[in-house]
Amino acid sequence: MLNYACGNQYIALSGNRTLHLELVSEERARHSQHSLYLLYHELRPLRSEYSYVCETAQFERHIDYFFQVRNEESRGLWPEVTFDDGHISNYEFALPALQSRGLVARFFITVGWTGKKPGFMGWRELRSMHESGQLIGAHGWSHALLTNCTQEDLDNELSRSRSMLEDKLGTSITTMSLPGGRYNHTVLEACRRAGYTQVFTSVPRAERVPPGFLVGRLNIRDDVRLRKLLGPGNRTLARLERQYRIKAAAKTFMGDRLYEKFWALLNKREPDSDEDGD
Ligand SMILES: [Zn+2]
Repeated sequence: MLNYACGNQYIALSGNRTLHLELVSEERARHSQHSLYLLYHELRPLRSEYSYVCETAQFERHIDYFFQVRNEESRGLWPEVTFDDGHISNYEFALPALQSRGLVARFFITVGWTGKKPGFMGWRELRSMHESGQLIGAHGWSHALLTNCTQEDLDNELSRSRSMLEDKLGTSITTMSLPGGRYNHTVLEACRRAGYTQVFTSVPRAERVPPGFLVGRLNIRDDVRLRKLLGPGNRTLARLERQYRIKAAAKTFMGDRLYEKFWALLNKREPDSDEDGD
């Protein structure tokens, strides 16, 4: 990994077989060397009992806190915001809230749903997000779990979604997030072949600056205690990562379908939702 100072920006280069280039602001460079990527899905103005819906006012409290954390010298974690799926609430509620605070988030889009599935963004909204300076990445074509895909399906999910985003937005797309957080060696090789230089998972862990090819994220739940998680020297994240690894092993042992039934029961998932089980 290499870091270069360039004017008042830092260029960080890290490589596997691919090269990743990241501009890091002076504020970021002065902060701790680790980030915590946070994963949101849908925002709603009213409180919801569903696990992966965040109340809009709560999201605003979160990003107010992130703004504060980023502007103070701290040895804690630097917060980064990401959204999966491309829900219309990302455009309606998250975009204005982020813009008013000068914050940039990453939005990972299920490309086959764009302009097709009710409740999700169309190309007009996505172009507006991109033109506003928000970062767009792919979240597959159909939200299929990539570990269940044939080689042909994998190419479709990864390459087709990337090409479509690039054509419609007129920009290079090099990041993606994994539907359901699922991956294995075959999936990661297919991501590399498709041209992605960073792949975002649902493994809750802190990441160095700049992160490597695989980037962990914390799935935001109702009971998340952000001040504790982002503070210096906390052990909560390590515990969450251990729990995640145990659940991942259970999925492998039980199989996806049986695990998903248990997960839906435990997490009050909406019957028709396509949320990412962590
Ligand atoms: Zn998803």
